[in-house]
Amino acid sequence: MKVEMNDFRRCWDVIGRKASDSFQRVGASGWYILGAEVEQLELQLRSVWSAKHVVATGNGLDALEIALRCVNVRAGEFVLTTPLSAFATTLAVTRVGAIPLFVDVDGQGLIDLDQCRDVCRRNPAIRTLLVVHLYGHALDMDNLRSLRDELELRIVEDCAQSILATWDGQPTGSVGDCAATSFYPTKNLGALGDAGAVITNHDGRADHASALRHYGQSSTYRHDWIGLNSRLDEIHAAILRDAILPHLSAWTAKRRSTAARYLEEIDNPSVSLPRPPSPSQSVWHLFPVLLSPDNRRSFVQHLALAGVATGIHYPRLIPSQRALEGYGRWYATTDLLRADVFARSEVSLPIHPLLHDEEITHVVAAVNSWNAP
Ligand SMILES: *Cc1c(COP(=O)(O)O)cnc(C)c1O
Repeated sequence: MKVEMNDFRRCWDVIGRKASDSFQRVGASGWYILGAEVEQLELQLRSVWSAKHVVATGNGLDALEIALRCVNVRAGEFVLTTPLSAFATTLAVTRVGAIPLFVDVDGQGLIDLDQCRDVCRRNPAIRTLLVVHLYGHALDMDNLRSLRDELELRIVEDCAQSILATWDGQPTGSVGDCAATSFYPTKNLGALGDAGAVITNHDGRADHASALRHYGQSSTYRHDWIGLNSRLDEIHAAILRDAILPHLSAWTAKRRSTAARYLEEIDNPSVSLPRPPSPSQSVWHLFPVLLSPDNRRSFVQHLALAGVATGIHYPRLIPSQRALEGYGRWYATTDLLRADVFARSEVSLPIHPLLHDEEITHVVAAVNSWNAP
């Protein structure tokens, strides 16, 4: 048996017919950029995110950059963020010319909001927080809101992994001034290519985001900002809306039931399962487990021999990436010990929504049969 981290061919079996219809419809329409398909998708995504505005973009990185610009983060300013995420989170900060500052993570690997509060209290020059709902776990939205209000911070939420995740019923993306998400194929709502979106409840920021994705135009040939070209194609919008979005809720339920099985059935004492606190209704973009760092390679090899693919999210902390050496200025505001533990000991198990029950059983058996050396 082979268990993949993602099974795009199996996915095509489910969505292919509808996706082909969408392709046919958009092709025949003769309209390929920023038309009715993107508008319809944005409309539906508003209810998915319980947000007033969704502005579709070419990818998640651009959506993050646009979100930072919409809250007026300027070159040279500090942005406090997490060292443990996709590199794109910090890349967005550097693309607006701002200076990333890193704070340690909590026991689940998510940015530690209490440490953020301490750091921001001590450093009033920090005005912006870029948080990530990592692994699909919702951060504590009540804590995030009190942080925002108490310290008057601007908050951008990286929701690339957290579509439909909630904290005590509150969706991710609902506390920040702006949020960004990604429809990269591996994400919980994955397109057949690159795509992303900016999410906001603020009318002015939504207009700004729409302009920024389209050369900074506020109306045709009127350029009020130095914008990007980050338009979402009609074809991708159509496929996302017709062929993929209708599965999101069932696929999320499946991820949750797989996670519940792993949490219940994995009982290898050498494998620890960090679980999000109960108010966090995770959408389990990933299922992280922790080993002792010396044993990680043995664990991964054992699973590979059993035909189970794994991932590591993420093996190198963002501040240790060579790209930031050349960037010049970034700082760690605390030690990054817990983030470092994740980087050295995390392994992600397969949790994509098209896993068969026997495959989940097989993963559990493989994990439980591993003997730590
Ligand atoms: C995938 C991802 C991004 C980047 O999205 P792209 O669409 O690949 O540009 C940003 N942040 C996080 C946390 C991600 O998982």
